Amino acid sequence: MATAIEQTNCDRCETPLEKGAAYCENCGERTHRARRLVRLAVRVEILLILIVILLIFGFTWVFLQQKP
Ligand SMILES: [Zn+2]
Repeated sequence: MATAIEQTNCDRCETPLEKGAAYCENCGERTHRARRLVRLAVRVEILLILIVILLIFGFTWVFLQQKP
């Protein structure tokens, strides 16, 4: 992934892209970089949600254990 070739043209309209651009200036199509970042963000989000759920279950379990 880190060695991916930098995208130079839009997939949809072939317009040359600026280096590091997230969207095509002509048609608004996402670049490969933007797609990768979105995938990463979604993964981090899912991980955070799982951690929160685990914490809630953990606290609930501890709370139930303390009851006589
Ligand atoms: Zn385009």
